[in-house]
Amino acid sequence: MALPTIEFRNVNKTFSQRDIPAVRDLSLSISPGTLAVVLGPSGSGKTTLLRLLAGFERPDSGEIFVNGQCIVSPQEWVSPEKRGIGMVFQDYALFPHLTVGQNITFGLKDLPASEQEKRLHKMLRLINLPNIAHAYPHELSGGQQQRVAMARALAPHPKVLLMDEPFSNIDPDLRQHMRDEVKRILKSTHTTALLVTHDQREAIELADYIAIINEGRLEQWGTPQDIYCRPVTVFIANFVGRSMLLPGVVTEKGVQTQVGLAPIHSENAVGTKVKVMLRPEMVQLQAEPSANALAVRVMQARYWGGEYHYVVQLLHHNADEDLLLQATHPAATPLQEGQLVYMRVNLQEARVFSS
Ligand code: ADP
Ligand code: MG
Repeated sequence: MALPTIEFRNVNKTFSQRDIPAVRDLSLSISPGTLAVVLGPSGSGKTTLLRLLAGFERPDSGEIFVNGQCIVSPQEWVSPEKRGIGMVFQDYALFPHLTVGQNITFGLKDLPASEQEKRLHKMLRLINLPNIAHAYPHELSGGQQQRVAMARALAPHPKVLLMDEPFSNIDPDLRQHMRDEVKRILKSTHTTALLVTHDQREAIELADYIAIINEGRLEQWGTPQDIYCRPVTVFIANFVGRSMLLPGVVTEKGVQTQVGLAPIHSENAVGTKVKVMLRPEMVQLQAEPSANALAVRVMQARYWGGEYHYVVQLLHHNADEDLLLQATHPAATPLQEGQLVYMRVNLQEARVFSS
């Protein structure tokens, strides 16, 4: 196993004016070349985590390592400029009175002029803007400014690149393209990066690994597939993608729900009440009855372009409350609100949570 490029060990941070910690006992290890995305709601501690790594904040306890070197602990403190960390700020923070070329070579003052020139042209080619060295930041579009900010951060060949909500100032139309660009640039330079977002789609599309942060705690560290298909907490199930939680009871054969038996092992004793998580794509709707299909009424139909999103209500069940489920369905055969239809639920991939 290669040495992790970034390692947090039991890091804690509480700001002096507050009694709630911004980062709590956080441990995380990121291998070389990984694009790690920190995902969490607003105020969950994402920016604080980046600032601790960059050296703009000091942890109360814990240790942080970069390439095996301890950069902060109760005994150690490596100053921000000596950490080999590049940062792209949310507003890019380009120097307005300097040209693109001067911005990009700003952190290269220790190199000979010929090497600075070489790096500059390499960086401009990397960001696909070879001819803008003499332009000023205000002459560039938002997307171009962001690429220049990336080039400036990458020019000194940092060990780690940090990006805080890098797409929040980019037009929605351009965001997809900029995500692809950022990923291409990071991969082609083998840069280990930590990118912060509160947008779950962005995290899933971009990340090699996602760190889910909630109230300063790391709730899960996994691939986008792990996070979506195997969330470890109810918070993650609700925060990432659409999910439904149904009541269930543990039996010897699995977990019994109102929509069938989920053939999954639960650590809880037989008879324990639990929650079963379903995703809309596990629910299939059909106009005609068939074996194992349950009768439901379409309560809501929404066209999402290419597919319909439905909310259906289970008709015959013995729970006290109405049981509503969500389903997505190809647009070819739309169902109508109020229509009686039939539902089959694939419970193989359902997840069980203790309630
Ligand atoms: P996020 O980036 O996930 O939105 P932050 O890391 O900015 O979250 O903030 C986490 C918590 O720490 C919030 O409650 C925020 O108000 C608090 N916080 C952040 N920075 C400071 C600061 N400099 N002083 C006091 N409280 C802060
Ligand atoms: Mg933030």
